[in-house]
Amino acid sequence: MLKSLIRVAVLVSVCLFAGVAGAQDIKREITKVAGDVYRFQNKFHFSLVTVTNDGIVIVDPINADAASWLKDNLSTITDKPITHLIYSHSHLDHASGGKVFVDAGAKVIAQANAPDAIDGVAVDERFDNTKTLEIGGKTFELTWLGKGHGEDLIAVVVRPENVAFITDAASPKRLPFRDMPRSDIDGWINQVKKIETLDFEIFAPAHGNVGVKADAADARIYMETLRERVLAGLKSGSTVDELAASVKMEEYKDWLSYDNWRELNVRGMARFLKETGQDK
Ligand SMILES: [Zn+2]
Repeated sequence: MLKSLIRVAVLVSVCLFAGVAGAQDIKREITKVAGDVYRFQNKFHFSLVTVTNDGIVIVDPINADAASWLKDNLSTITDKPITHLIYSHSHLDHASGGKVFVDAGAKVIAQANAPDAIDGVAVDERFDNTKTLEIGGKTFELTWLGKGHGEDLIAVVVRPENVAFITDAASPKRLPFRDMPRSDIDGWINQVKKIETLDFEIFAPAHGNVGVKADAADARIYMETLRERVLAGLKSGSTVDELAASVKMEEYKDWLSYDNWRELNVRGMARFLKETGQDK
């Protein structure tokens, strides 16, 4: 009896300690998505890591500390060198710290609208709409998603695994980020439509859980439904505060970030519709 009580006490204290440590540390982990394709997690951000016969292709450095950790821990999956760094877009919460991989020998690829240098890293190769890279037995299909969330956002599809790496435009069963700041939301919806035209099976997002292609359509339907309800409310004379309280999007209450971002999503959508004069 006493022994089992002690065991329970030890277990409880271990769990408590793990909880505290987890809150203080940034969660970093490399996990397999499929075949030779992995995701690297840095707290709430993910990048994509693909091991080819020639070397490692990384999409998004996230930041300098994250990139250094990843570089130091790639030996857990391969002993190959880093050959390419692809930027999903130039927003610095995903695109900082690329120098770590450039110093290791990576060639840098980004969409044509990306700035001259991304956090001090010069882009070696740019493309307008699409670009296909054949690297060490893998195919990387890069597609510009148009303007919406940013102006240089691309999707990266890796074959033969048929994994799409999608940053910020959509995540499986997860609400869009906060109040969708600094974005052309109609353009953003079109970006998700563009994703739906791509050929892939596994949806590996830069935020949230891995899903399937159908999750892209669901993410677009969420945004369209939110748009419709907020617009109807504004046109009927409701204030933004009233809509923040009344547009509940109940059918999405099981999605990630519903509790934290539902109201912010409503406010962001209302702001966009007012700013673009569509509420009249
Ligand atoms: Zn972004």
